Amino acid sequence: MSLRLRLTIIYSVLTGGILLLLGVVTTVLISIALISQMDEMLARAVDKIITNIRIEPLGGPTVFLPQLNPAENIYIQIWDTQGNLISASPGLSSFKEPLDPAGLQAGETIYRDVYFSQAHLRTLSMTVVLGGHPFVVIQAATSLSWLDVTLRNLVNILIGMTLFATLLAALASWFGVGQALAPLKTVTDTALQITRADDLSRRIPYRGQDNDEVGQLIYAFNETLEQLEKLFVAQQRFLADVSHELRTPLTVIKGNADLMRRMKSVDEESLASIKDEADRLTRLVGDLLLLTQAESGKLPLDFKPVELDTLLLDISKEMHILAGGRVQLKVTEIDQIQVNGDRDRLKQVMLNLVSNAIKYTPQDGEIFLSLGKVGGQARLIVRDTGPGIPADDLPHIFERFYRAQKSRTRSKSGGFGLGLSIANWIITRHGGRIEVDSSEGQGTTFCIYLPLLKTSDSLS
Ligand code: ADP
Repeated sequence: MSLRLRLTIIYSVLTGGILLLLGVVTTVLISIALISQMDEMLARAVDKIITNIRIEPLGGPTVFLPQLNPAENIYIQIWDTQGNLISASPGLSSFKEPLDPAGLQAGETIYRDVYFSQAHLRTLSMTVVLGGHPFVVIQAATSLSWLDVTLRNLVNILIGMTLFATLLAALASWFGVGQALAPLKTVTDTALQITRADDLSRRIPYRGQDNDEVGQLIYAFNETLEQLEKLFVAQQRFLADVSHELRTPLTVIKGNADLMRRMKSVDEESLASIKDEADRLTRLVGDLLLLTQAESGKLPLDFKPVELDTLLLDISKEMHILAGGRVQLKVTEIDQIQVNGDRDRLKQVMLNLVSNAIKYTPQDGEIFLSLGKVGGQARLIVRDTGPGIPADDLPHIFERFYRAQKSRTRSKSGGFGLGLSIANWIITRHGGRIEVDSSEGQGTTFCIYLPLLKTSDSLS
């Protein structure tokens, strides 16, 4: 069953139900109010009779039937305690039965509905007590046939109106819901078109209000499409980058191999070039594997207490050799600091930052390393006096395969633009962050912040 039909049925049933309930309550209240009016009228008539009871000095008490208002249409009977009819109103001269046989025996004041063959009466029976003994029973009655007719008409009108209103509600909700749901059809159509045409650049247009439910749904759907498109573009770019990075070393290897084959001799220079490119390929494949594992959450980290100061000194020694006197490597400040982390991965990050600094800093430049505590965190700084990173490139350097403009032209000596994205991932997984501060010609500063080792970490 369609949502439109379901909602229409729900609205119609609700409207019909509420109207029916209101109708029943109205009818019951009206009938109670009218019957209580009738009861008051009967009570007034009986009171009038009681006030007319006379005590004759010799003959005992006597009851007189007073003149009643003919417009009130009240019938009266007065019975003695032996069940003899003493007196009755003129309209009842031929009617010798009690108006309410049960009320006659009741011995108390009682209001009842009494049905004769064609008539519906409301009766009041009251036993009058004189000198401690029941004296007479007065019965007053009035016809309720007019009330029955009125209530029947009212019920018919209410049923008719309820049916009509329910029909109107059904029509209104069928069209209203249809209109409200129409944009969803557009959503479905667009979603199908996107799937069929493989075109993630499409968006769903919406002419209604942006903050209504459908507007929000379309907004969310468009956001999802935006994300999907970004991911798709990123994936395509990633594939293009990987193919590009693979092609360059492969072309060099193939070129050198062809050359040696044509020359029919083994050329040392070509062999060295082939080895360099094979090494580069190995590094690239290693980095790619690491990054894919990291992004799919399959790279396990072996968390243990790590002495960052010892690690920094080790790296400094190793990197001195790499710097080879071309640039100066100085440790300016070092605190004893322990963090909870994967030693090998943290070393990889530090090596990446320092080797970048060495790689990009020209002859006679300087690199400063420092390790300290700031705001309850470990802070490791790698600063160089190199060319700096242009402002346009700075926001992107943690992206995969991103290399600043200048580094791109030096593709052979430069890396693949994967190191910093791997480093960023590792530090984030350690609960820390990497910040970079650089401007062209002013050198570059990388800061790593890591949470200090807590006693609970070292115990676990
Ligand atoms: P790569 O392997 O190309 O060095 P990274 O991810 O480590 O890749 O670095 C990304 C880019 O950031 C580099 O290509 C380079 O342009 C820039 N970069 C990183 N470190 C420095 C630095 N110390 N000085 C200047 N540029 C840097």
